[in-house]
Amino acid sequence: MTPALSEIARERGIRFFLISFTDLFGTQRAKLVPTAAIDAMATSGAGFAGFATWLDMTPADPDMFALPDTSSLFQLPWKPDVAWMPADLVTPKGISIQQTPRLVLKRVLQQAQDIGYSVKTGVECEYFLLSADGETLSDACDRQIKPCYDQQALMRRFDVIAEICDAMLTLGWGAYQNDHEDANGQFEMNWTYADALVTADRHAFFKYMVKAIAEKHGLRATFMPKPFAHLTGNGCHTHLSVWDAVGTTNLFHDPDGELGLSSLAYHFIGGVLRAAPALCAFTNPTINSYKRINAPATLSGATWSPNTISYSGNNRTHAIRIPEPGRFELRLADGAANPYLLPAALIAAGLDGMVQKRDPGPRYDNNNYTQPLPPDTAKSFPDNLLDALRQLENNSTLHESLGTEFVQSYLKLKHQEWRDYSTQITPWERETTLDC
Ligand code: ADP
Ligand code: MG
Ligand code: MG
Ligand code: MG
Ligand code: MG
Repeated sequence: MTPALSEIARERGIRFFLISFTDLFGTQRAKLVPTAAIDAMATSGAGFAGFATWLDMTPADPDMFALPDTSSLFQLPWKPDVAWMPADLVTPKGISIQQTPRLVLKRVLQQAQDIGYSVKTGVECEYFLLSADGETLSDACDRQIKPCYDQQALMRRFDVIAEICDAMLTLGWGAYQNDHEDANGQFEMNWTYADALVTADRHAFFKYMVKAIAEKHGLRATFMPKPFAHLTGNGCHTHLSVWDAVGTTNLFHDPDGELGLSSLAYHFIGGVLRAAPALCAFTNPTINSYKRINAPATLSGATWSPNTISYSGNNRTHAIRIPEPGRFELRLADGAANPYLLPAALIAAGLDGMVQKRDPGPRYDNNNYTQPLPPDTAKSFPDNLLDALRQLENNSTLHESLGTEFVQSYLKLKHQEWRDYSTQITPWERETTLDC
């Protein structure tokens, strides 16, 4: 039997627990619960008014309860008297709330299990370090035109990067490298892939941890997809492989297959490419996301984000890259992607590809930045969030796999967001229209 949380708290010196859930827009919501109350709370759940968060609920709805997953406990390395636990939402009667992003991912992973598969993912969460007010880059000296891997700029932020990396090592994630990325002020820290739900919880926690540790150092971290028009944006590349149900054999790996990938992997990719326009509603979920994809080259010479729905080998100019045998990388997603909905939608599309044996079409080895594939060869991505939402509306595969109730709720809130945005009168509009 697993020990009670109060027992774990005594052993590890935990005074408080954050019972945390991620809402439809990716915001983490929590109750901070003292150890004295945690055992009861872990059973009953922490209460929340759903409408006060980004969930499709009304102020008249009954409270909902967040049940922590006690097997996924993260003791904050920078504040070890606090532990974070991801939670799943239920009604007062204990019925799962279908629109909970973490439950959506669990549902899709169950569908994979049902046909004999498990899924492993790894994510690369790029972020910028800004001044505390978020207005400027935090390092005025970080000005190279090609700043990628800039050793000097990386080491000027050593205190922050090392603290985050040490934290990941303490947590046992298998952290293995940190670098300065392609935009001034931008960094990436990598840890080892794991089961999709484990990676999703780590992804959520990573975003919290990076922001918290940056704040501790007087800085502000942002995962915003495109904070600066002339600089490369924040991607959230997702690496994926499908394994047997128990997770011991990588079914994507085939030494005789093209680039070391099995036909199962190519079918998965076929499903992803087919669903790509609708997938964008999850991989690129904000207004700002569409300033990162389909973008003109940045100061560094390349955006490193895709422009067409196509796949390639070890070539970073396409939406899907096959870097080595046994896995592929989706380069489409950005820093705003919900850590649970991103893998859920991606896996839903891939399961459809495997079941229906979808053909991914040919691989393209061109430089897609300087010689882009013509429109009759490869389709482009939605131009904006509204376009992506309309694609999602018409994608029955994603509706069925992710759950119609969830998709309807998601669409409703995202359409509201689009309407809010549409009421804004931007400086660009005044500039171009004042003298009309
Ligand atoms: P790159 O920058 O070349 O795209 P990174 O090293 O930054 O690559 O990130 C690669 C990610 O892919 C890591 O999280 C790594 O653990 C993960 N990965 C490696 N092999 C697999 C695999 N078989 N399945 C899923 N993810 C994988
Ligand atoms: Mg109250
Ligand atoms: Mg990387
Ligand atoms: Mg990167
Ligand atoms: Mg990558």
